[in-house]
Amino acid sequence: MEDIATLTLAGALDGLKKKEFSSVELNQALVDSIDKKDGDLKAYLKMDPEYILKQAAESDQKRAAGDDSSLLGVPIAIKDLINVKGESCSCASRQLEKYNALYDATVAAKLRYAGAVFAGRTNMDEFAMGSSTENSAFQITRNPHNLECVPGGSSGGSAAAVAGGEAIAALGTDTGGSIRQPASFCGCVGMKPSYGRVSRYGVTAYASSLDQVGPMTKTVEDAAILLKELAGFDPHDGTTLDVKVPDYQAHLTGGMKGLKIGLPKEFYVDGSDPEVSQAVLKAVESCRAAGAEIVDVSLPHTEYAIAVYYILATAEASANLARFDGVRFGHRAESPKSVFDLYAQSRAEGFGTEVKRRIILGTYVLSSGYYDAYYGKAQKARTLIREDYTKAFEKCDVLMTPVSPTPAYKIGEASQDPLKMYLGDIFTVPANLAGICGISLPCGSTRGGLPVGLQILGPAFGEERILKTAYAFEQMQGA
Ligand code: GLN
Repeated sequence: MEDIATLTLAGALDGLKKKEFSSVELNQALVDSIDKKDGDLKAYLKMDPEYILKQAAESDQKRAAGDDSSLLGVPIAIKDLINVKGESCSCASRQLEKYNALYDATVAAKLRYAGAVFAGRTNMDEFAMGSSTENSAFQITRNPHNLECVPGGSSGGSAAAVAGGEAIAALGTDTGGSIRQPASFCGCVGMKPSYGRVSRYGVTAYASSLDQVGPMTKTVEDAAILLKELAGFDPHDGTTLDVKVPDYQAHLTGGMKGLKIGLPKEFYVDGSDPEVSQAVLKAVESCRAAGAEIVDVSLPHTEYAIAVYYILATAEASANLARFDGVRFGHRAESPKSVFDLYAQSRAEGFGTEVKRRIILGTYVLSSGYYDAYYGKAQKARTLIREDYTKAFEKCDVLMTPVSPTPAYKIGEASQDPLKMYLGDIFTVPANLAGICGISLPCGSTRGGLPVGLQILGPAFGEERILKTAYAFEQMQGA
């Protein structure tokens, strides 16, 4: 069998189908690889070899009996905020340290239906709040390209596992960049589907009007395979749209010829690391050389995106996290002196610093007297940002931008300065605010050997288009 480090989802499925290896052999190789590497990377919060191999043995039996479900026997790592019945789901928080999921999230049920093996729970920033995975209550995940650097976040565990040879593919979530940015820091593919494309049912909510689940993989083809399984209308999530799910993999054809690529000028300003800008512009240039037309576009409200995002996301988070009160949900303080004390102490002990900061911010922007000035204004500005994108997509098919202004930085370098960390989300949060889709894929590396990601954005429900473009770019890179 090919090394787990390079084995793709497509390759694993092919090998299983052709009986080159069994699911037990495949999953044993994965477990061995995690055992070997996770001491350094710390990508997983939990990985139970027995549970994995039991599922693998069952899928081998099913295959022998003629079952040919689309993901039968292939392990998929899961970010630790997606509920999988019976499994822990800590959200990297003390609040849920002892919680086991009572039901399957829709995405988990879909993976189960497709025959996938649940491979382990990946680390993340607590409740998905952060950009470096340093906000996990339990451990700091490291970047497989340089163990002194962060893997990005909040889906840093999934990205490090995929890029570091500890997973074939993984699920992440993206509220303001948490799939795309860690994918770019670690050098894998990460896709945020359009809002409403994938169900959020059973996915612990951070900011419900922005959250989406998506694939984190080694190749664009793998992202296409996994997205097809995840996407679609769900009666449990009223924000999913009843739009047919295309066979994304079958559409991965064609090159760059005739494609109109927009370069938003607001994304190419001073302030980015020159090595990042150079790698991205080189990628754009190679698309032009391969026959794409490059057009300049403007997204004039980009400058407000960070402020709008950090008002809306924290407002929604403060409401979503109100349920962790030590009574209905979450950690309960040992010996409170009163009911008020029970709430206050349980929350004080259960939440980490960054989560508390966001709850305070969010409560403030929603409080009477400030609501209109902050929350109301941010909603209006969000509409303007969304309209910017609608107009831009009248002039081009896709947009190409950097994913993050910097490559991965050293552990500890940004964690003491929350504002600095927030500003690093400038290129990713607009897509969530606008509800559109985006993908990050590797386009080069710095002189220090750290990966640089290229972001391709498409209109809402334009997943086919960005996957096709990303695939064409990936093929050019490989050639
Ligand atoms: N870094 C952003 C934040 O901290 C995005 C997080 C995410 O997408 N979950 O909110």
